[in-house]
Amino acid sequence: MRMYDIINHKKNGGVLSDEEIRYFIDGFTRSEIPDYQASALLMAICLKGMNEAETATLTDAMLHSGDVADLSSIPGIKVDKHSTGGVGDKTSMVIGPIVASCGVSVAKMSGRGLGHSGGTIDKLESIPGLQTAIDPERFRAIVRSTGIAIIGQSGDIAPADKKLYALRDVTATVDAIPLIASSIMSKKLASGSDAILLDVKTGSGAFLKTLDESIALAKAMVSIGTHSGRRVMALITDMDAPLGRAIGNALEVEEAVDTLRGRGPEDLTSVCMDLASYMLMLAGAADDAANCRAMAESAAAGGKAFDKFCEMVAAQGGDISVLHDGFPKAPVLSPLTAAASGYVTHMDAEACGMASLELGAGRRRKEDDIDYSAGIILLKKVGEAVAAGDALAMLHTSDAGLLPEAEAVLSAAIVIGDAPPPAAKTLLAIVSEDGVAMM
Ligand code: URA
Repeated sequence: MRMYDIINHKKNGGVLSDEEIRYFIDGFTRSEIPDYQASALLMAICLKGMNEAETATLTDAMLHSGDVADLSSIPGIKVDKHSTGGVGDKTSMVIGPIVASCGVSVAKMSGRGLGHSGGTIDKLESIPGLQTAIDPERFRAIVRSTGIAIIGQSGDIAPADKKLYALRDVTATVDAIPLIASSIMSKKLASGSDAILLDVKTGSGAFLKTLDESIALAKAMVSIGTHSGRRVMALITDMDAPLGRAIGNALEVEEAVDTLRGRGPEDLTSVCMDLASYMLMLAGAADDAANCRAMAESAAAGGKAFDKFCEMVAAQGGDISVLHDGFPKAPVLSPLTAAASGYVTHMDAEACGMASLELGAGRRRKEDDIDYSAGIILLKKVGEAVAAGDALAMLHTSDAGLLPEAEAVLSAAIVIGDAPPPAAKTLLAIVSEDGVAMM
């Protein structure tokens, strides 16, 4: 078998055989297939797609490219959550501690930033000292003692996805349903949790921009998960505008802390409460969604969710003083002002993510370092009134030379009109093995 023929087969719209898919994943994981051939196949998959059987084989090959975690030494149902990626999405740092403080174990492996979207691991690593590369034994021990740990994808869990993810990030091959579904489900299944809640984002900041595509992705992932014997549901949530007001690593940790303490922005709080309730439901913590939501709300209001986050950060070696006192600010802060009066009618979330990346908060190449203090605070959100000259956002960076490009991208992303737009829903649909419920 030759990689050249496999690329050509897919380029011409063919259906790849099990052998072809496994040959690619095995060879790429062992670094016998170079990045340039893998990139060509990824692009062919983006353009020509994959059917359900090809996607299932791709997921299975990636899942078995490394270790499969055994969480059986942790008592009770272990629940995980995964977001398909968005801008300002700091929900894992909020809902993980909420759910764990309600007595359900959260053994979570998270990812790094991908394209315009941020990643929980990069965000957590902005906390001084916090380790995310933790071996399986210690990971299980932290979950047993604190009820929660959030670590990076270990070298041995779905290594094929780890390598492909980094390559897709820099080759414009992220936004294809079979690649996203197999990437997410291979690592979620290999991570060993019994129940998995998927947060499938939709809108301008999501990898998939339309509700129909997002529902198709959710159905593909729920089907892969339930066929593997796990409890899986997906919530389709709005990502047409950035979630919350903070974009960028340390800035997002601060906003997650505010939300854990019941002082977060309305849209972020609402999504977090929905996600936490359904995680508690999947784990069987209470018998209906309303009771699960009441549990989640009281965990945040009573402060026990914030205490749980501090416990987790300390257990992973992090300095919890930044959670109490705030992070050191970036040396350069610069406001972006409104050119006209009116209402913010749209904020292109992907462009906001790109502007944050321009400020140093993300990577352009696999090997780039991140400026943890860089990012954006949105001082106005969609629907809010503005007067010409008002500050729309505050840009944070360590390098003033990065400001002009970031300002240009961000100002093009924010639309000001004469009337406020209709209020957007944060939860749009729920997908389970029983079907799709529109909200
Ligand atoms: N998140 C993932 O883990 N993989 C993708 O492909 C996209 C988002």
